[in-house]
Amino acid sequence: KVVVAVKDLGKTFISNTKEKMTALDKVNLTVNEGDFISLIGPSGCGKSTLLRIISGLESHDTGSLTFTSEDENNGFVFQDSVLFPWKTVYQNVVFPLEIKKQKTKETLAKVDELIEMVGLEKFRNSLPKELSGGMKQRVSIARSLSYNPTVLMMDEPFGALDAMTRDTLNLELSRIWKESGKTILFVTHDIDEAVFLSTKVVIMSPRPGTIKEILPIDLGED
Ligand code: ADP
Ligand code: ADP
Repeated sequence: KVVVAVKDLGKTFISNTKEKMTALDKVNLTVNEGDFISLIGPSGCGKSTLLRIISGLESHDTGSLTFTSEDENNGFVFQDSVLFPWKTVYQNVVFPLEIKKQKTKETLAKVDELIEMVGLEKFRNSLPKELSGGMKQRVSIARSLSYNPTVLMMDEPFGALDAMTRDTLNLELSRIWKESGKTILFVTHDIDEAVFLSTKVVIMSPRPGTIKEILPIDLGED
């Protein structure tokens, strides 16, 4: 089942010096339900821009973006996710439910499940300053899953962490993906990470000039 269809998507930025910069040029991408798609490519090739457009954080200039689900609802995990420093782990994870007015007995029960799923049940009532960088990213993952997003977007979520923590979190994320059945769009420039995690790796390559190309490689089921 197709969740998101990106067709001939184009995006141009105007730089401070008034130059046109093509970030995306006729990009096509189909995201199926349950996919774990990694977007890889060198810095500046447009990965973040594509993710931000799909998640609605940014507009596109040309082409189309179609969501097939009725309640289109995306979660986003950034490289440096900002947690509310005065809120506990639990309060941070509950927060999206509060702003979306979806605090019910059922959704609140799920918050504790999510905190357990990311391995932070002992830190439920801790403040962010008491947590390591890896733990904060776990909170961020739980928070973005709390309102049950159609697609979970992750932009180099472990990029700021040391190699060992990153390996651990990749293993965890793999398990979380299998347990939750979520559709995940993941940006990285680490090919090992992409191959380890994904059902599909999409390579974005910058050409001299501004044209970018996307080649999907289907790695099949594991
Ligand atoms: P990646 O995530 O692959 O590193 P980005 O999507 O961040 O690439 O950037 C793609 C291109 O678009 C780059 O040339 C970048 O400088 C440019 N760009 C991204 N965001 C903006 C912005 N808000 N304003 C101007 N240029 C931008
Ligand atoms: P990422 O976390 O994916 O590396 P960044 O936010 O660091 O994304 O930006 C990636 C690229 O986009 C960089 O080259 C940066 O200079 C460019 N960029 C991002 N935002 C802007 C902006 N507002 N204006 C100009 N360039 C931008």
